[in-house]
Formats: sequence, C-alpha cells, structure tokens
Amino acid sequence: MRLVLLFFFIIIPISVLSEDFAIDPKHHLPDGTFTNTSGIANESKLKEVLKWSWERRGKKIETFEFEMKVPDFKRINNNQDLLITWIGHESFLYQNKDINVLTDPHFTERASPFTFAGPKRYMPPGMKIDDLPKIDVVTISHSHYDHLDYHSVKLLSEKFDDVLFIVPLGLKEWFEGKGIYNVRELDWWDSIEVKQTIITFAPVQHWSARGLFDRNESLWGAWHFKNVSHSFIHLGDTGYTKDFIEIRRKLGPVDLAAIPIGAYEPRWIMEFSHINPEEAVMTYFDLEATKAIGMSWGTFILTDEPVTEPPKKLDEALKRYDLTNKDFFVLSHGETYLID
Ligand code: ZN
Repeated sequence: MRLVLLFFFIIIPISVLSEDFAIDPKHHLPDGTFTNTSGIANESKLKEVLKWSWERRGKKIETFEFEMKVPDFKRINNNQDLLITWIGHESFLYQNKDINVLTDPHFTERASPFTFAGPKRYMPPGMKIDDLPKIDVVTISHSHYDHLDYHSVKLLSEKFDDVLFIVPLGLKEWFEGKGIYNVRELDWWDSIEVKQTIITFAPVQHWSARGLFDRNESLWGAWHFKNVSHSFIHLGDTGYTKDFIEIRRKLGPVDLAAIPIGAYEPRWIMEFSHINPEEAVMTYFDLEATKAIGMSWGTFILTDEPVTEPPKKLDEALKRYDLTNKDFFVLSHGETYLID
C-alpha cells in the first residue's frame, strides 16, 4: 500500500474534463487550481492507481549501470556558449556565457517525500553540488518530487547567496516556507530578464502535487531561455499536444531543446502526461529545434518501460523520420556538450 501511495504522489496522470472555461486566463480555475491549455486537467483516481499497481505486482525492478562521464570542467568554468551538462533525469547545468542555470536540480537519493522509501536513484548525479560553478538561476518545471527536491534546493540556496529560483505560479509560498526567499513565480507566457537572458514560462500538458490534497495548486510548464546568440528550452514533463506548435509560434525556433524520452509505460495511464520517444521526435519537429537532448530516463525507476529502452526507441523513431543522433541525442550522466 505504501508503494501505491508513493505512485499516487509522484506520477499518476488520469484526465477528466474540466467544465469551466469561462475564467481568464483559462488555465486558472475558480477554486484556485490550474488546468491545461485544453481545459482538461489531471485528476487521480485511486481505482486506476490500484489497477496499475496490481498489474505490475511481483515485477522485478530492473536497474542498469550506465557509463558515467567526467564533466568538462575547463569549459564549464569558462562558461562557454552554449554548454550543457547532464546531471541526470531532468537536471542540467545550462550555460550560455551570460548566466549559469540549473534545471530541476536533484542531487539526493530518492525522488520521494520520504528518505526511507520511494523511487531510488540507480545512477549517481553526474555532478556534485560542490563541483558546480557559481549558479545564477535555478528553474523548477513543476512540484513533483523528481523535479523539486527539498534538500537540493536548500543546499543550493545556502551555497549560492544570490541564486534566483524561478518557479511556476503557486510555488513561491512553498519556497518561503523552507526559508528560501529569492524566488520569482511566473505564469504561462510571463518572462523575466536575468542579465542578458530572457526566461519565459510556457505551457505543457502535465499536473502538479506533492501530497494528497494539493493537486494542481501550483502550475507546471517549460522554461525557455533566449540571449543574443542562442535559445534553449527545457520542457519538463509533458504529454503530446499542440502546445509545442504554439511555443514555436510565440517564441520562435530553438537551437536546443531538452525533451523527455522516458517515463511512458503503460500508455493507458501515462500517455496524458508523459510523451514517449516517438512523440519526442514529433515534439522536436513541432518546436523546430535545431538539436535536441533526450532527458527523463536512466536515473530513477518511475514507470514500467525497461530502463535501457528509451534511447533505443528514440533511435528507432529517429530512423523513421530520417534523423540521426546528430539531431537528437542522449548524453551520459556527467557528460558536457558544447553546442556550436
Ligand atoms: Zn511530473
């Protein structure tokens, strides 16, 4: 039962139709919660969670030791433009010669509300907090435990005095409750300028919750970064929708997109909130990305697909669309990639 509740907390995406479209903006509902651009919000149903839990009972938890790389500290400490290092799951160190950014930083052992239970990482973080360069900005895509990790954000706020946490609408209060005050919360299509970089929050289809009673009380979304020479988008968790075409229309093509390729099985419960590798390639086209990095795989076991499957399925999908790993690729944990 404890395991069932953990999945209830972390990953369950069941959709129901929201009937109220009269609010402006439409994704703000009268009860103070948020919905997706389609007007369809996620609501969990314990029955569905129990069904999934029953189906996967007795299933052996498979892990795999992936190759780790040593980050390219020479380049990282020079803040080259545009440089990205995969820490694991959806955590990246993104550098654009202007600012150093951490996305959804997660450096601890479990993606869970508990230290003793819940999805445990099977690959260590690709960088240690002590090895990071000075961080200017931390972005959080949504409140799920594999994206917003209390100990990680607390340690970062203590190590970097003036780091700015840029978070979805509704999450500032959580940060202040933890004693972290340098926080800006943004609604969809809001922007903030940090030095020469414009950071915009954009809609994707997902949901939020950290407990049983705070569903969709904070927003979720993608973070788009643009400076004089480059643009980058970190999608966070998302299902496949027309949101990506709208992002392209409003913000232009991107030089680099971090697109989730894992956490997609079983489709009957995951499809609404998590794209699969095939949809990730469709997303790459919708965004008109020059290059894409696959994320949300190889770090925590959250869903049913084998842990080695996402990159293989990505390769198969790329072939079908006449693309290669030069266009859309994965990195090893700790690997640094310079986009030229
Ligand atoms: Zn999520």
